[in-house]
Amino acid sequence: VKTTDIGEFGLIERLAALLPKGAPPELVAGIGDDTAVWRVGERCLLATTDTMVEDEHFDELAEWPDVGWKILAVNLSDIAAMGGTPLFGLVTIGVRPKMRVEALDALYTGLAECAERYGVAIVGGDVVRARQVSVTVALLGEARMAGRRPLVLRRGGAKVGDAIAVTGTLGDSAGGLRQMQQGEAPDKRLRRRHYRPEPRLAEGQAAVRAGLRCAIDVSDGLLQDLGHVCEQSGVGAVVRWEDVPVSKELLAAYPRKAAEMALTGGEDYELVLVGRRAVLSRLPVTIIGETVEGSGVRVLDLDGAEVEFASPGWDALRL
Ligand SMILES: [Mg+2]
Repeated sequence: VKTTDIGEFGLIERLAALLPKGAPPELVAGIGDDTAVWRVGERCLLATTDTMVEDEHFDELAEWPDVGWKILAVNLSDIAAMGGTPLFGLVTIGVRPKMRVEALDALYTGLAECAERYGVAIVGGDVVRARQVSVTVALLGEARMAGRRPLVLRRGGAKVGDAIAVTGTLGDSAGGLRQMQQGEAPDKRLRRRHYRPEPRLAEGQAAVRAGLRCAIDVSDGLLQDLGHVCEQSGVGAVVRWEDVPVSKELLAAYPRKAAEMALTGGEDYELVLVGRRAVLSRLPVTIIGETVEGSGVRVLDLDGAEVEFASPGWDALRL
């Protein structure tokens, strides 16, 4: 069996099946949510990890400080998607033989900037030699508790009839990347949205306080990420395409492609929040659809006709 045959999600399922059976009682959420959730006495820890690899997640178009910022930001985004607060992180870097140390200094400058901005302590890690540069962050955070019950946003927390909302705008990251790859001078804001994503920590925490219990962050593409929510909640979803928020910068750069980029582009690191419409209406988010009986995500145009896409989003192993 080749990794390309089963894809990222097939591989995760297959490997998870090889692990010892039986969840420890402290485990609230394991493989398959944005972070693991682990109870420690009266408190509750969140844990997540993400890696960026040279030529896979970034190339010579990227500046080293941006790579450092982004690897921490994408981990923070998973904490945000649970409605949690970050605590501390560990950083592992793969370093090419005889690589210029100044490049790694620069990477750490961006990483430190992000750590400072979001109040994360970097407390350790590892350095290894590798043929390609890679940087991995493992991040721990904390969830609020109601007694002994953690208050977190789970992928499996949606019910039929819930509204679906997103923070910010979608597709900017894909638009910025496309402009750079085509050798155009990218729009400054789109470029920034690609390289300097801002994890929606405050928004996730506000969602928990408002009583919401379901979210995911947009890392692979709205349709794919919302698909995970549907799968784990046992619901379907309908998204109205004209309601998906798109920035004026993206519309100006890609008037015909903007909507598709917003639905399938990925790496926006906005939050998809699912819950009662009355609750979502009080938050600074845009409602884009609702959950329904059934399974899968359907996108409807202005006339109510279904829109089809070649791919719902990113799979790390299928390219
Ligand atoms: Mg995530």
